[in-house]
Amino acid sequence: MTTAYLTHSRFTEHDFPGHPEHAGRIHAVWEQMRAQGLADQLLRMEPSQAANEQILAVHSPAHLERLTDISHQERMARIDADTYALPVSLEIARLAAGAVTGAVDLIAEKRADNALAVVRPPGHHATADWQMGFCLLNNIAIAARHAQAQHDFEKALIIDYDVHHGNGTQDIFYADPSVMFISIHQSPLYPGSGALNETGAGAGKGFTLNVPIAGGHGDASYKRIFADVVGPAAKRFAPDLILVSAGFDAHWVDPLAGMQLSLAGYDHLARECLRMAEALCGGRIVFVMEGGYDLKALAQGWCNIVRALLGSTAIGDPYGAPPSSRTGEDLSPLIERARRIHKL
Ligand SMILES: [Zn+2]
Repeated sequence: MTTAYLTHSRFTEHDFPGHPEHAGRIHAVWEQMRAQGLADQLLRMEPSQAANEQILAVHSPAHLERLTDISHQERMARIDADTYALPVSLEIARLAAGAVTGAVDLIAEKRADNALAVVRPPGHHATADWQMGFCLLNNIAIAARHAQAQHDFEKALIIDYDVHHGNGTQDIFYADPSVMFISIHQSPLYPGSGALNETGAGAGKGFTLNVPIAGGHGDASYKRIFADVVGPAAKRFAPDLILVSAGFDAHWVDPLAGMQLSLAGYDHLARECLRMAEALCGGRIVFVMEGGYDLKALAQGWCNIVRALLGSTAIGDPYGAPPSSRTGEDLSPLIERARRIHKL
């Protein structure tokens, strides 16, 4: 089993100290992977920058021009209240997208069985036309399109378990039946989209599947949603490739959200994704870094993904289970509605 690991030392150049999405995040992941001896077991590949053609397969010319304009300025720009970009950020965002497309290439060329792309800035909030939510280019969407255009992967499944709704990815593929987007996210929470009845449009109707859940849900709820909704939907879609927007901000210690997942719970989700890939598409899967703002949870979470991809059963969970589950919400009606709307 060969697992490819794509990351780049320049990912730290996009930085704004004091902002939750700062360079220390990726440092923490690199450091833990080294400390646990995991990086040496992986096929290391340095990504190249995504080309304009790859970016424009997903984003509008105006979207790319906004970042190009900032690259000619002398200082940091605020695209919105949450989202910053430095003159160098376009280059770094191109490397992030290039890492995910590079992971797809290695799998397509059979040089790797599966892969992880440890990248920043994150991507899943970037829509076809707009940077938002810390995201500049939609890395995973660019990779899904690249997989279709350059390889034999006609149908891509994107599973997004970042705590926030991946509105950008949804937006890009909303009318497209060749990319299925499945998101489990806290609701209400930023960015406010991702209702159960957002299921796609036109030919893409039914190929967007949202499971919005109240804050406070933990391991048992996620496990059930995967078993009753995500698994059956993935099986029916029968993808050629699975891409995962892996965010660790649904962990119970995360400062930006209110879910109660533990690292053991996260490990179950990653292994379920892996099992789906093995059952449905020859094990072809790429885990892509999105959010996660507690450094220890983020770093250990990525180490656990590596162990799962390498076929090891060991995991690390320094925080353990949350002290108490705060939700009293019964998940059954939501699961029934999701299954009814999507005819599962
Ligand atoms: Zn997030």
